[in-house]
Amino acid sequence: MKTKKRSQARSSSQRRLSFPEDEKVHPWLPLLLDAYAAVDEGVDVAIRSAARRGKKIACAKGCSACCRTHRTIPVYPLELVGLSWYVTEKMRGSERDIVKSRLRDYREYDPCPFLAHGACAVHPMRPVACRQFNVFNEPCREGEDPYYTRREDVLTPIKRYTDRAFFLMLPFYGIADEKERWKLIETGAVHQVVKLMQTCNWKSLAGKMEEFERRHAERPNR
Ligand code: SF4
Ligand code: SF4
Repeated sequence: MKTKKRSQARSSSQRRLSFPEDEKVHPWLPLLLDAYAAVDEGVDVAIRSAARRGKKIACAKGCSACCRTHRTIPVYPLELVGLSWYVTEKMRGSERDIVKSRLRDYREYDPCPFLAHGACAVHPMRPVACRQFNVFNEPCREGEDPYYTRREDVLTPIKRYTDRAFFLMLPFYGIADEKERWKLIETGAVHQVVKLMQTCNWKSLAGKMEEFERRHAERPNR
């Protein structure tokens, strides 16, 4: 009898992040975490499939040229809510100071403001686009966009996992009916709400972080 291989991709429920107390308070959070788990599972499956064809993933912690190079990263309203929550309520220490200052000074089309100490400071809440952008063989050179220089080395996301992620997010926009959700996905209408990370009003998020800090300084035990 065949035994299950240990190296099998982890399912989305196994890889789902969990913030139990926050999920009770923020009904949108479980939707986003479920969606990100579906995306991460899809990326994992695609990387394993590429590995069987001899491709080696180049992305690794501390490798961040992509975060400085890309200036048109798509982000959806629910993802922005997740980023805002994470940065305001969860981020601590020097990362918080760096990100707050980058948000305060942010100008349109600057590099992503969430890069701190050469790594993604919002890693659990990074958008679908960042989760899915993976490169094989060689790390990106500074300023290189491998989508144009070596498309064959850029991971192609598996559509059914991406579709599932958007299906799971749609109730946030008031669309609960399953048939309607699939229709919005099939027609592409689901993408009408997309924005660009580099054109968001990040200064206001710096203000929100400061407001949160003021409130908590006044009530240090909460
Ligand atoms: S996309 Fe390129 S720069 Fe970004 S982590 Fe992967 S190899 Fe490194
Ligand atoms: S959100 Fe994180 S992974 Fe995405 S571009 Fe910004 S720093 Fe990089």
